[in-house]
Amino acid sequence: METIAPFIEVIDEIKEAGGEIFKMCFQCGLCDAVCPWNKVRPFSMRKLIREAAFGLTEIEGEDIWRCTTCGTCPAQCPRGVKQIDVSVALRRVATEYDVFPASVKSARTARASLISEGNPLQGERKKRADWAKDLSVKTYAEGMEVLYFVGCYLSYDPRMKKVATATANILKKAGVEFGILGDQESCCGESIRKTGSEQVFKDLARKNIKTFIDNGVKKIIVSSPHCFHTFKNEYPEFMVNFEVIHMSQYLLELINEGRLELTGEYPQKVTYHDPCYLGRHNNVYDEPRDLLKQVAGLELVEMEASRKNSLCCGGGGGRIWMDTPQKERFSDIRLKQAEKTGAQVLATSCPYCITNFEESRLNLEYEKVIEVKDITEIISDMI
Ligand code: SF4
Repeated sequence: METIAPFIEVIDEIKEAGGEIFKMCFQCGLCDAVCPWNKVRPFSMRKLIREAAFGLTEIEGEDIWRCTTCGTCPAQCPRGVKQIDVSVALRRVATEYDVFPASVKSARTARASLISEGNPLQGERKKRADWAKDLSVKTYAEGMEVLYFVGCYLSYDPRMKKVATATANILKKAGVEFGILGDQESCCGESIRKTGSEQVFKDLARKNIKTFIDNGVKKIIVSSPHCFHTFKNEYPEFMVNFEVIHMSQYLLELINEGRLELTGEYPQKVTYHDPCYLGRHNNVYDEPRDLLKQVAGLELVEMEASRKNSLCCGGGGGRIWMDTPQKERFSDIRLKQAEKTGAQVLATSCPYCITNFEESRLNLEYEKVIEVKDITEIISDMI
């Protein structure tokens, strides 16, 4: 009996989330043809939508958790079906009924940590700004030029703290008057929302919005495309609007305004990976490339799938917290595509992408083959 109620609610939730999707989808299967899952194992978004239409979705299974929300299939669908909304609606039902397959259980740990500490990584809230201890980074105060919203991975993850440090050094060098929120900063909530924990997202968003308003924040710069996306496109649901700029855009602005000068040389072949939430979801394709082109000696080469066709790293939609068997990791395929260009460096601008690529680099034993860098790490070597 336990699974009947969800089936009924699924239909209502999906109708609410995706409009008249049942009538819209004509089962052409284009979504399946472009879905990155089908490079590693069979998965059918078309089937998921069909089953949901009849209330037949198996919410105990893995399939409702597969979508990485990469945005590839919505861009191709001839009927304008909102596949991401459908997946999220199904996950909301599963979350409500506390039905999780084994591979998704670690996302629950992330959710518990978000509720208690404001980050998914089980870091203590009071240690959120520890990365900046020796860098004399100021706490944001009203009237400062920009708020640097650091994000969870850059605050707690040892690999990503290097990116936070590189960013702070660049901003200081350019004379930007910036501050951080320290332990007042909470996760932006983008990814937990995609796992169906809507209330957790709302609580995090409200907390951040209150902090922004209380501190007189107007302009926010971010390192993560996930923070960028949710501040820009989802926080306005709370009737607020902050100016938000991704770091790749901001650094290019600083160079163009003559505030940041790059002096060194970087005689390396570099290929750039478009993160889904910067590229496909927000159309930021040029600025990261234009920024890299400012670096003397750097040769920029493209992978076989780039810009709107970029292959997802596998980390979106909360998948970064779920267990993915090694043979099913998109990031392994992407790293091989990068290696094929002859690049010595795979550059990107997203903490999830870097986390996944660094893991693939170890798994594939590519440590001596290719480096993985955030764009800011390359720029900070040039100042
Ligand atoms: Fe349905 Fe769109 Fe997928 Fe075609 S591409 S099967 S219309 S959701």
